[in-house]
Amino acid sequence: MQIPFVDLKAQYKSIQSEIDAAIANVIAETAFISGKYARAFEAEFAEWLGVEHCIACANGTDALEIMMQSMGVGPGDEVIVPACSWISTSETVSFVGAKPVFVDVDRETYLMDPSKIEAKITDKTKLIIPVHLHGQAADMGQIMAIAEKHNLRVLEDCAQAHGATWEGKQVSTFGHAATFSFYPGKNLGAYGDAGAMVTNDEKLAGMARMICNHGQLKKHTHIMEGRNSRLDGLQGAILSAKLPHLDAWTTARQQHAATYDRLLANSGLKTPTVAADATHVYHVYVVEVPEREKVMQALKEAGIAHAIHYPMPLPYLKPYADQQATPADYPAAYDAHTRILSLPMYPEMTTEMIEYVVNTLLTTVRSLAVST
Ligand SMILES: *Cc1c(COP(=O)(O)O)cnc(C)c1O
Repeated sequence: MQIPFVDLKAQYKSIQSEIDAAIANVIAETAFISGKYARAFEAEFAEWLGVEHCIACANGTDALEIMMQSMGVGPGDEVIVPACSWISTSETVSFVGAKPVFVDVDRETYLMDPSKIEAKITDKTKLIIPVHLHGQAADMGQIMAIAEKHNLRVLEDCAQAHGATWEGKQVSTFGHAATFSFYPGKNLGAYGDAGAMVTNDEKLAGMARMICNHGQLKKHTHIMEGRNSRLDGLQGAILSAKLPHLDAWTTARQQHAATYDRLLANSGLKTPTVAADATHVYHVYVVEVPEREKVMQALKEAGIAHAIHYPMPLPYLKPYADQQATPADYPAAYDAHTRILSLPMYPEMTTEMIEYVVNTLLTTVRSLAVST
């Protein structure tokens, strides 16, 4: 059996007529850049989240960078980010001229450990960026309390967590602003690059919208210099067609995760730990395995796609070599990174497929244990 890591074709086939109609409309109206389809998606997504403003842009990386610019984060500032994330979270901090300051993660959830944040706060700290990594909501109760105590702003990176909740409330509604990615493989994915910023702060929203479109809110009325980071009409229409299906897709992901959890219980392998107040929307399903190289080889031979999110924690990447991080600086992130393995996860998977993945994984791990 061949099992892909995600199956975007299966998803397209399940809603083909809706997607094809959406694309045909945009082309018929040649509403290619921003325009009514982008605006419609912004309104629908804001309503779905329960936030006042949504500003769509070209991708999730731009969303982080533009929202930091809108908040006035720049040279001389420090921004607190988790040691485990995709590099967009930290590279955008550097791009606005600020310094990313890493905080270790919780060894169980891989999310930024709130108990380690305060030791990293200095008089230069301006912002905390929690990342709802793998699809699980970070501890927004503790993070917001720390931010309030130190008068810091919070920007939630929700790129992997559309629809995840903390204490029953949607991620993106806790911080001063939040960002999303609609990269095709994300839980809500466009058919190309796309992203969005959301906030209840009207001033931040206005600033972000201006920066996205050359510093203008009205054509040829440039208030400031900005850039070009807009949503294509085609992507807006596709996202609008997909949004009504998102809750059902999330439920399917959660059911698949429960099946994985059940089949892997008592196996000795670590499966995702979900905090009591959090929900997890399983952008990826991460287990920990011994002898990962050998396990990956066996999965590959069995036709099972897999990945690592991510092979190296951020502080140990080359761009941050000047910070001279040692394993003792971020012990949880460092300890986890050689063992984590992401198994296939997408709504259209079948129970049979999950059983095949788990059987292959357990057979491999047991044979390795016998041979050593
Ligand atoms: C995907 C991702 C981004 C960036 O989104 P793009 O749309 O690919 O630019 C940012 N942060 C995290 C955590 C991501 O997973």
